[in-house]
Amino acid sequence: MTAIDTLPQAPATPQSGLDFDAVLRTYEAVSRVLPETPAWSYPLLNAKAGVKVTVKHENVQPTGAFKVRGGVALMAALSPEERRRGVVTASTGNHAQSLAWAGARSEVPVTVVVPVGAPARKVAAVRALGARVVVEGETMCESLAHAEALSLAEGIRMVSPGDEPAIVLGHATVYLELFRRHPGLEAVYAPVGSGSGAAGACLVRDALAPGCRVIGVQSSAAPAAHRAWRSGEPATIHSRTRVAGLAVGASFTLTQSVLGRSLNDFILVDDDAIQDAVGLMATHAHTLAEGAGAASLAGLMADPTRQGPCAIVCTGGNADDHELAGISAGAGVGTDATLSC
Ligand SMILES: *Cc1c(COP(=O)(O)O)cnc(C)c1O
Repeated sequence: MTAIDTLPQAPATPQSGLDFDAVLRTYEAVSRVLPETPAWSYPLLNAKAGVKVTVKHENVQPTGAFKVRGGVALMAALSPEERRRGVVTASTGNHAQSLAWAGARSEVPVTVVVPVGAPARKVAAVRALGARVVVEGETMCESLAHAEALSLAEGIRMVSPGDEPAIVLGHATVYLELFRRHPGLEAVYAPVGSGSGAAGACLVRDALAPGCRVIGVQSSAAPAAHRAWRSGEPATIHSRTRVAGLAVGASFTLTQSVLGRSLNDFILVDDDAIQDAVGLMATHAHTLAEGAGAASLAGLMADPTRQGPCAIVCTGGNADDHELAGISAGAGVGTDATLSC
């Protein structure tokens, strides 16, 4: 399903500071801490897609996901007073690990509020990185509200999962590395939850590769950003997706202000197509991806107009038990003949 509507016009937002110069400044901070990630193409994947595909590997980041760039950028942008007091957010996933990792590295105290039923393994990962974990709320919305309350009560800075310029700029550095190494791309597919990664892709593309199309990919079971992009109005749609990194129930003003004027196309794929792409990453690209990390590949495979050379971003490798089990089910693991003698 490809949206080919004319682009809705959003007002330019110079006050948000989201421009290419800011991406370059952010990269100075990010590249001091995180080495450039590899980007490869794989013959079997090219053959399957029918076009040359470059896979940018954010699954090799220290937290297993690209969001650590946003965390590092955010810590670098804090005032001395904010650094001393610390930051608070609500998340069970890669955003939480990102802030915990970056906070530990720059000695900023990090508090993460998680809902009561959050997966134990994810909570353990955040704690192991040194963050204070507060278990509060039945849903992520309630946890976010509690994080806001903690922010007020303790005088610590609230970090929004979507409306943070520093995080968008941090995520943009994925695409700075990609476009610098791979000039001549026809299209880049970026997964969308809050839209911070895709917005970062647009900022860099506009400056370095104006002829390249940036195409967002979202789960059809959590399509808030897609609806907001099409309508030009904020959207709230309850998320029903299994794909943790894409389970976002509302659009964000900041990211939509960029996507509205710059995103070329926006594809919705269902959760089964995303799971198939997790399998393809395993069998055709030597890569363990989580669902959100394979969503850009799902979008590429669903795009009838795909043209090479193009790029996808494996944004994360933190597959949950369901995604791991799905790989062996979908890829026919166990059917290979044994050739040992
Ligand atoms: C958060 C996340 C996304 C979605 O990124 P947004 O910036 O929220 O749009 C995609 N992939 C992974 C692995 C993520 O953790």
